[in-house]
Amino acid sequence: MTKELSARFEDLSILPALQKVIKELGYETPSPIQAQSIPHLLEGRDLLGQAQTGTGKTAAFALPLLSRLNLKQKEPQILVMTPTRELALQVAEAMRTYARYLKGFHVLPVYGGQNMGHQLRQLARGVHAIVGTPGRIQDHLERGTLNLGQIKAVVLDEADEMLKMGFIDDVERILTHAPQDRQTALFSATMPKDVLAVARRHMVDPLEIHIKTKTTTVETINQRYWQVKGLHKLDALTRILEAEDTDGMIIFVRTKTATVELSEKLEARGFSSAALNGDMTQAMREKTVERLKNGQLDIVVATDVAARGLDVKRISHVVNYDIPYDTESYIHRIGRTGRAGREGQAILFVAPREKRMLASIERATRQTITAMSVPSRKDIADRRVALFNEQLTEAMQSQDLEFFEELIDNYQHEHNTGLRRIAATLAFLLQKDKPLQSDADSTREVDQLDLETDDHGDVRDEQDLIQYRIEVGRQHGVEPRHIVGAIANEGKISSKSIGQIRINQDYCLIDLPANLSNAVMKQLQNVWVCGQRMQISVADSGSEKNSRLKPKRRVTHKKFNKYIKKNLKPNRSPRR
Ligand code: AMP
Repeated sequence: MTKELSARFEDLSILPALQKVIKELGYETPSPIQAQSIPHLLEGRDLLGQAQTGTGKTAAFALPLLSRLNLKQKEPQILVMTPTRELALQVAEAMRTYARYLKGFHVLPVYGGQNMGHQLRQLARGVHAIVGTPGRIQDHLERGTLNLGQIKAVVLDEADEMLKMGFIDDVERILTHAPQDRQTALFSATMPKDVLAVARRHMVDPLEIHIKTKTTTVETINQRYWQVKGLHKLDALTRILEAEDTDGMIIFVRTKTATVELSEKLEARGFSSAALNGDMTQAMREKTVERLKNGQLDIVVATDVAARGLDVKRISHVVNYDIPYDTESYIHRIGRTGRAGREGQAILFVAPREKRMLASIERATRQTITAMSVPSRKDIADRRVALFNEQLTEAMQSQDLEFFEELIDNYQHEHNTGLRRIAATLAFLLQKDKPLQSDADSTREVDQLDLETDDHGDVRDEQDLIQYRIEVGRQHGVEPRHIVGAIANEGKISSKSIGQIRINQDYCLIDLPANLSNAVMKQLQNVWVCGQRMQISVADSGSEKNSRLKPKRRVTHKKFNKYIKKNLKPNRSPRR
């Protein structure tokens, strides 16, 4: 673990209202870029930071700049420029979250393709921060609808990308509209000459920060990654858990809150797991590690800090559920497996926007991380059947079954039922919540798009979402980002609450909170996306997701089930 990571948020002079949010989000320690940038940005210094998405750079500039904001002054004081509207939305959403307790704070994402009227209304109402793409910001400046005269700080996010996309002239022109004595921070994953030239022209004695990537080799560990696509991360994880031969496992997430949420969700799905985080007392942590060591527990969901130095030989797998901030953390994380010369497995979940971090990790470990696919529902069902057969043979060979044979004989005579039917019923009861038949629907997975990761690495709760329908589809050229943008902006629904989106030929199905108010529904009826009115409605109750909300009739056979559970308990747990 790097020295910088040991710094504490409490030691940084960030506003208490922001500290409160950091606590709520479960951020344990500042990431390296945060530890290095925040103190200087708080002092008003210019900063040139070489770092990628996923390193925590949004908070690195948002927290100090928000700390220096004058809330009473309702004119833009912070201007963030990003290369894409997705990043603009993401940064604006993150700022909104961090500023949750700054009363009256307004941030406006500004990007092309979005309804101009909406942006003008918001600007007229007064905003403290603007996050946008250079093209649209320039449009506003030309129309005279945006005044940058009170800007205190400008952030150029992913500067290399902005230059690659040809925004250089716009960026420089925009900078001339902001006061000379403003503060400027520039973040870029790479530092080509043109980026440095912009920095030279527009920054004053900037502090330079490089979030380094060290080279290390980790030989006994087989590393794979799964590109987050088509499935929720939680579903992918549970399938991997079922399909792989695992012993002990550590799953890394970014926040303390996520350790608890994820381990509870895994428990609910029948996996023995526990959280390990910095909020727990030393004694509690030791107890959890002890349970993992002696096999009482198979999975520990941990943050980097809590798992520091953890040495448990039976850890066969490390899953990076949330990608780490830097390559050093990655190397540290995966080093929890492959202990004592054993083979270890490391699996990394990579969202599309985290691809760069994957490349850095490959460079740092000097190894290729191979792409893996998540087992399909059919693979899972096949595996369950194989396991079922194995358990059956094993129990048949190792247990004294005389009493049960008699029980079945009696049943057969009393009910005049064939042995095949009785055996089939017992098999049905044994499968419990792990069905042996694959779901006919599995082919539809390919068409789903996952928007699982919210901006704060939180695990989104799917329970309260239902499916809505909007009347715009593939034939109109719609893409998920259009829908997310429209719903987040017009419906004021946090992108965190937007679930899966399925794009069909002439309509889309989207998972959104079940309790959308009439006002929001009405507002969303009339929003235009790709030239179509959304005309949102609740998808019919026969739809796959909404029908899941209806309680299903279940065959219980409680007593019989309990009896079987007690007496025919398989020697191995169904998941190994
Ligand atoms: P960014 O590099 O700004 O895109 O941030 C990547 C992710 O890291 C986001 O989901 C943030 O919410 C999360 N994050 C940022 N800082 C921290 C921190 N100190 N501890 C835990 N998570 C963080």
